[in-house]
Amino acid sequence: MVLEPLGALAMNHPDILIIGGGIIGLACALRLTREGLSVEILEKGEPARGATWAAAGMLAPLTEAADGGPFFEACRQARDAWPSWIDEITGRKGRAIELDTSGTLVVAFSEDELEVVEELTHAARRLGEPVEEIDAAEAYRLVPDLAPEMKRAILLAGEHRVDNRAVARALTAAVEREGVQIRRYSAVDHLELRGDAVCVVGDSWRREADRILLTAGAWSARVGGVGFLPIRPVRGQILRIDGVQWSWDGVVRCGELYAVRRGADALLVGATVEEVGYSDHATSAGLAELARFVDHAFPSLSGRRVGDLWSGLRPGTPDGRPILDEMLDGRILLAVGHYRNGILLAPWTAEKVADRLLGRTPSLPSEFSLGRFQAIRD
Ligand SMILES: Cc1cc2nc3c(=O)[nH]c(=O)nc-3n(C[C@H](O)[C@H](O)[C@H](O)COP(=O)(O)OP(=O)(O)OC[C@H]3O[C@@H](n4cnc5c(N)ncnc54)[C@H](O)[C@@H]3O)c2cc1C
Repeated sequence: MVLEPLGALAMNHPDILIIGGGIIGLACALRLTREGLSVEILEKGEPARGATWAAAGMLAPLTEAADGGPFFEACRQARDAWPSWIDEITGRKGRAIELDTSGTLVVAFSEDELEVVEELTHAARRLGEPVEEIDAAEAYRLVPDLAPEMKRAILLAGEHRVDNRAVARALTAAVEREGVQIRRYSAVDHLELRGDAVCVVGDSWRREADRILLTAGAWSARVGGVGFLPIRPVRGQILRIDGVQWSWDGVVRCGELYAVRRGADALLVGATVEEVGYSDHATSAGLAELARFVDHAFPSLSGRRVGDLWSGLRPGTPDGRPILDEMLDGRILLAVGHYRNGILLAPWTAEKVADRLLGRTPSLPSEFSLGRFQAIRD
């Protein structure tokens, strides 16, 4: 089936047309198609090569949402959904994709970092998440490259990690196996109404559907016809160091930055947080910031081989939480703005969207509505 040229009438159209084939769009597509809806994805490039590909893959409800509340609960539910979601994606039992549940070591060398450890310890106790003091000898045994004179280390056993690139590949394959058409290199320019249907318009084509689901990540506010949508790109850069031999398989956090194991011997060190608009390339300044962190937290790694440096655009919102909402009597749904937690929140988002579209819930969770930004709009 080809995209209809501009001006042609749509002879058939899917129940749901998804704009953007990142982890959020793909997760929703898989869920909706398995629930019996016909789904199609319009993707401006290759699927899952946006923020989904750039991410570190941490599944970290506590460190990302230590204030608690509905956002933390959503993140916790999402984390708990991951093991079975991997089985759903791969169609195989028993974690065919690497999902590491060792946890996250949070270490401190400075006073500021000690405060972070203290705050996370309190938050974990308050929210009923596991937290354990790790003595220095054990921390250095697990992570021999830690800088000397560490002041404190804790283990947050509920903060996990997954290989997000393996998930991206498997999810794309699963969606296509289900018969969902992913129309690559089909950038959506704007949306229009045509009677009861919504029309999605590209440079020389248009496509109609009963409903549209917008999941275009950091680019969501650039799709015309959607109206007010406070999404902005927030660049993050990650450095990969190769040849790291630790007995620790989990994540190490220190202050605002982290190191995440990947594969047999790689370590992802990230990430910068930069407000530079849609400029999505890696920079020498980003490399320098991450190299300073390596010197600070893991100085004996500073001579190791740099395997890669990359960047991606997080879909930021004013409060760092996603927007799940609907407009035009439910003809346009929004699942955007997952900022630092879109990998974590993908299975949760797909469930909420499916529950709404299949009428199992009367609305999307109100805590994540667009209306919370009304004051900015006015
Ligand atoms: C450096 C970095 C580290 C991160 N680490 C983590 C982490 O450890 N854990 C975690 O949970 N999250 C992490 N994130 C955040 C996570 O990657 C994002 O929240 C998540 O990928 C958002 O998914 P998405 O599908 O909304 O966006 P994307 O993955 O960016 O996908 C959006 C898709 O929409 C397509 N698109 C855009 N505009 C159009 C258009 N007009 N027409 C058609 N298609 C369009 C794009 O090409 C893209 O494929 C990180 C992000 C970065 C950058």
